Amino acid sequence: GTSAAQARGAELEQLIRKDPGQFRVLTGDRPTGRLHLGHYFGTLHNRVRLQDLGVETFVLIPDYQVLTDRDVAEHLQEYVAELVLDHLAIGIDPDRSTIFTHSAVPALNQLLLPFLSLVSVAELNRNPTVKDEIAHSRQSAVSGLMLTYPVHQAADILSVKANLVPVGQDQLPHLEITRTVARRFNDRYGRGTEVFPQPEALLSDAPLLLGTDGTKMSKSRGNSIALSATADETARLIRGARTDAERRITYDPAGRPEVSSLVLLAALCEGTDPHTVAGEIGDGGAAVLKKRVTEAVNTHLAPIRARRTAYERDRQVVRDVLRAGNARVNALADATLQDVRAAMNADY
Ligand code: ATP
Ligand code: MG
Repeated sequence: GTSAAQARGAELEQLIRKDPGQFRVLTGDRPTGRLHLGHYFGTLHNRVRLQDLGVETFVLIPDYQVLTDRDVAEHLQEYVAELVLDHLAIGIDPDRSTIFTHSAVPALNQLLLPFLSLVSVAELNRNPTVKDEIAHSRQSAVSGLMLTYPVHQAADILSVKANLVPVGQDQLPHLEITRTVARRFNDRYGRGTEVFPQPEALLSDAPLLLGTDGTKMSKSRGNSIALSATADETARLIRGARTDAERRITYDPAGRPEVSSLVLLAALCEGTDPHTVAGEIGDGGAAVLKKRVTEAVNTHLAPIRARRTAYERDRQVVRDVLRAGNARVNALADATLQDVRAAMNADY
């Protein structure tokens, strides 16, 4: 669970600092809209930090995964471009890190068949994140893709033999499936060798940031504040955020999730402690809290937004980054597929 992952996170941190070359990161976001503050504090921030520590980093844009909870991938090109721009703006450097799209790497889909054979329907059915996403989905029928996408993610991560996955809390059950797939593959086919590593999750200090309605901030739930929002848009969204009737501001995530998530947001942006922020606002009420959050967010994001505007002027950069990233991952994933064929006695 979350607390185990957080405890392990402290150990991982030591190991990474000692020898960043031992680690390879793969993580990503669905191209379903612009990245938001939940992404930023949940995982993006960690991606940049790991890259800058010298960990080889892969950022996947899982375009097929858009179809888990919708019939058509509307605005796909636009959203993929937005994600690339968001990553460049926060400091992912395409010369050191690799950004790629799922659909451009056929080997990912070929890894899926043997991997699907390694998990049971019962295991897929009890994944709590998939259940939650089904509950929030606009579709009435649950597709095979919805049920199996955690296995696709296993193929994504294992295709480059990544061993570290910086993610938000919702991804922990998926990581467990990836570890299961890796372990079972090694047991069944490895003949004593480790074909795949068992990747570990790396949670941030904000593994589940709530949106303006008090539920998980998500691109698809209309409750998010995009990194690329304007300062005015940000102010409007925060003004409309749900709070409660109590005037005194406290930090109590379990008892007062809406107010506490605003307090946390200010603290994360200011680099301070949420209890300090709450104490300073005291009896100021929701209006003072919201003003403080707005200022903190807009100040923190100003340089990121400025960099993003500069990259937006040159759309060719998006194509160049993806072309290079896709070529690199195709080479690695083809080699992994060859390892899989060899292990399964299917290299004729
Ligand atoms: P969608 O609504 O389309 O599912 P999303 O906002 O949930 O979009 P994803 O692309 O599913 O975003 O998630 C990408 C990554 O960001 C994952 O590692 C996920 O854990 C993390 N993440 C997303 N939302 C949050 C959040 N509110 N708090 C912390 N981490 C988050
Ligand atoms: Mg999601």
